[in-house]
Amino acid sequence: MGRKFMVGGNWKCNGTVEEVKKIVTTLSEAEVPSEDVVEVVISPPFVFLPLVKTLLRRDFSIAAQNCWVRKGGAYTGEVSAEMLVNLGIPWVILGHSERRLLLNEANDFVADKVAYALSQGLKVIACVGETLEQRESGATMAVVAAQTKAIDEQITHWSNIVLAYEPVWAIGTGKVATPAQAQEVHFELRKWLHVNAGAAVAASTRIIYGGSVNGANCKELAAQPDVDGFLVGGASLKPEFIDIIKSAT
Ligand code: PEP
Repeated sequence: MGRKFMVGGNWKCNGTVEEVKKIVTTLSEAEVPSEDVVEVVISPPFVFLPLVKTLLRRDFSIAAQNCWVRKGGAYTGEVSAEMLVNLGIPWVILGHSERRLLLNEANDFVADKVAYALSQGLKVIACVGETLEQRESGATMAVVAAQTKAIDEQITHWSNIVLAYEPVWAIGTGKVATPAQAQEVHFELRKWLHVNAGAAVAASTRIIYGGSVNGANCKELAAQPDVDGFLVGGASLKPEFIDIIKSAT
């Protein structure tokens, strides 16, 4: 079963109105493979979602970087899945390691968010990944399997989820996983899906890699059989993001 290549651009907590307009203009002018070949999803901070939605080329899609775990209400500072749906935002990134680590988002909490977002009709980029300490102690697969299992236990189907394998030690550090390291974990994650969610889920679920992807290293990573695309942080704010999108072909 073919898995369409996906490239997500996570802008994190960056940007001004002027910068957003500049990035979106650069994206609009770029020649990239068609949307049949690569799905591009741009994820600006919440406050810029309406602006980006208005200006962004129609063959690119949009994701929020987070949403609240339940229906909105008395949760100061939160943004609900219903609000994203109301704005016409189709995707949300959940479980990013910056939120897991800095805001103590536990596996079950992330899984609850994934299930709730799906129930409201959002599609989810669900992030998993190990710290350097966990990798060095040989716990990589146990960690990402536990994160994935928590999600699997809360959801009824995987069809609207993309798994993003993002080793924490590679995020924003310039220290990218080697193609072999990425492939190894993606392969193991797909095997985990096969055993626990079934052959069809394993064959169809996209597993994308994130962590210091740039214009220079994307081609080799993209060539790995179980790497179905990228979630890009720092480089998604730069023109080289176009080269990363082009690595799909
Ligand atoms: C990310 O934040 O999802 C990410 C992969 O960041 P970077 O590309 O900057 O490492």
